[in-house]
Amino acid sequence: MSAGRPTTVRAAAKVNLHLGVGAPREDGFHPLDTVYQAVSLYDDVLATAAEESSLELLTADHVDGAGVPLGGDNIIDRAAELLGAHHGRELTTRIHLTKSIPVAGGMAGGSADAAAALVALDRAHDLRTSDHDLLAIAAELGSDVPFALIGGTAQGLGRGELVTPVADNGEWWWVVAPSDGEGLSTPAVYRRFDELRPDAPATPEDPTELLDALATGEPLRLARSLHNDLQEAALDLRPELGDLLDLGERAGALRGIVSGSGPTCVFLCESRAGAMATAEALRAERDVVLLACGPVAGAHVLLDQAGA
Ligand code: ATP
Repeated sequence: MSAGRPTTVRAAAKVNLHLGVGAPREDGFHPLDTVYQAVSLYDDVLATAAEESSLELLTADHVDGAGVPLGGDNIIDRAAELLGAHHGRELTTRIHLTKSIPVAGGMAGGSADAAAALVALDRAHDLRTSDHDLLAIAAELGSDVPFALIGGTAQGLGRGELVTPVADNGEWWWVVAPSDGEGLSTPAVYRRFDELRPDAPATPEDPTELLDALATGEPLRLARSLHNDLQEAALDLRPELGDLLDLGERAGALRGIVSGSGPTCVFLCESRAGAMATAEALRAERDVVLLACGPVAGAHVLLDQAGA
């Protein structure tokens, strides 16, 4: 029997401050040059070693859990398979997943769950996997999963999985407006990107200007250098997002952008007070408006029930 302990691990949503996308590679993936920031919207994964595997989902009021697969197709199931295969054993686990990150919103909620699950499963089954191996398994699970493990602010190359922390001297305040309706499929957004940008360069645009802005900690400079190559495709699929971006900027945000592949829109504000005022104004028009700050930590143990 395992000497592991029931463990709760928390992982954060991400915003892409810069998302440079190149023409598809031979393996079908798009080369990325991106800068991720972890922001304070979180999912929690509680893992307990058990005789049989199960997954129970709890969602915050603003999260529609209908899109989260529970019958063995969850990315958490895949994390358990890969981590188990790495250690040559089956990891039967009772999982409780609590979601606050919008589903299919371009904030990498699934990737956050995968990263949290890797750390929680590792503790629950007392596997003592090295950080190096956890990162390698994370990259196999998905392009955004290594970043969800490390958090903070980091540049991602390759298909986003090759992550390096970058200097970030700001405390950045965001207003987050998830979609009022359905999420957007990431592959569908990339397909539209390919149609709209048949001449995309092989090497994606680099974030030099944005990295300078992060180091200064000045919100206006960061606002000016935010960049998302997928925004045009997301707006083409969901034209109403353009109105939302205008609305947020009229409500006082320094700049609004589509988060990753969308449809969540995020608004960078000058300060906490500025974000609160912008959120308040947006709430007159939108069902769900959230406040978040970044950068925050990557996947971390919240509660180790043996009280380590
Ligand atoms: P990204 O920004 O990485 O493209 P996203 O935020 O747009 O991701 P997710 O919430 O990660 O989207 O979910 C994408 C799809 O993954 C969902 O539509 C769902 O079918 C599937 N999925 C599998 N496991 C999970 C999970 N734990 N949480 C959410 N979705 C999951």
